[in-house]
Amino acid sequence: MVSKLRFVFFIILMIPQGIMLWMASSSPLEGNKYFSEIEALSLASALILILVIPGLTVNWLVGKDLNNMRQLCSRVKQGNYKELLSLPNEARNGEDDILVLMRDMNWMARQIEFRESAWRQAVEDLQASRSRMQVMAMTDPLTSIANRRCFFDTLDQHFKALACHYQPISLIIFDVDFFKKINDTYGHQAGDKTLLELAKIIQENSREGDLAARIGGEEYALLLPNTDSQGAVGIASRIHKKIAEHIFVLDERQQISVTASIGVCTLSQFLCCIDKEKIYNYADQALYYSKHIGRNSVSIYDPDTHIIHKVA
Ligand code: GH3
Ligand code: MG
Ligand code: MG
Repeated sequence: MVSKLRFVFFIILMIPQGIMLWMASSSPLEGNKYFSEIEALSLASALILILVIPGLTVNWLVGKDLNNMRQLCSRVKQGNYKELLSLPNEARNGEDDILVLMRDMNWMARQIEFRESAWRQAVEDLQASRSRMQVMAMTDPLTSIANRRCFFDTLDQHFKALACHYQPISLIIFDVDFFKKINDTYGHQAGDKTLLELAKIIQENSREGDLAARIGGEEYALLLPNTDSQGAVGIASRIHKKIAEHIFVLDERQQISVTASIGVCTLSQFLCCIDKEKIYNYADQALYYSKHIGRNSVSIYDPDTHIIHKVA
């Protein structure tokens, strides 16, 4: 814009100068018909000065403001809203268009800053609530351990990660014995308290990298990646003992003991050849075997022989 203005000024200035020079050098000037060459040159110079000085002044004033505005735009583009255009504090009556434009640009920069910070806050809030919802979707609300969906998602991920490797994976499933009786005798709240404490026992006795989950009303699962059957049986037996020894305090007067039936299964072949549902079905069959033989015991399913036997 400024360079275009400069070009227009230049053209306007050149026209009278050219006319004057033409008049001074053309034949009608000779013999003082109009005026002498000196007078023509002086007149041309005076005209140039008359046009140049206000033109350059306007150009200097407008150019400076335009430059300031351009700098403000590039600062705003870079997210720097601190340095606005310096203006008189109060709006004056009849202030010129450039000042009005500069005032509006400051207002726009403040609006962009305000809206950008509101937008950032909204995105942060959205991300926070999204991650809260993700956690909620994967967590059991009563016990705060993983829920059934999280368990099966994690099982799926482990099968994908361990596919075509000789890494074993083990699963332990727990079902509380005669849990309905606890509800019926002491109330639903006492039942909830018992479920919460059972989750704690399973969680506390798992290792980093294992996944403890509540997969049903009074059913829990413990997924043990890179764990062979010996390791899984060791952990299952330890938790079985801890549950049986634990005193569940329901209130100041009521204390009970609880037992669990447990099923274990380990897969250690090429996992890509095995349906991931199988490990769950095999462990579940071992659990029901434990129930069948009188509850309060640990049984293991052997996927090679398809034989289940009691281990604790
Ligand atoms: P078994 O030894 O054969 O497993 O008998 P059980 O009584 O443990 O099993 P059953 O399936 O007959 O009963 C399970 C009970 O668990 C029934 C249901 O009301 C209770 N239950 C399920 N979810 C919850 C819960 O979130 N809180 C409470 N307090 N009870 C629950
Ligand atoms: Mg059950
Ligand atoms: Mg039960």
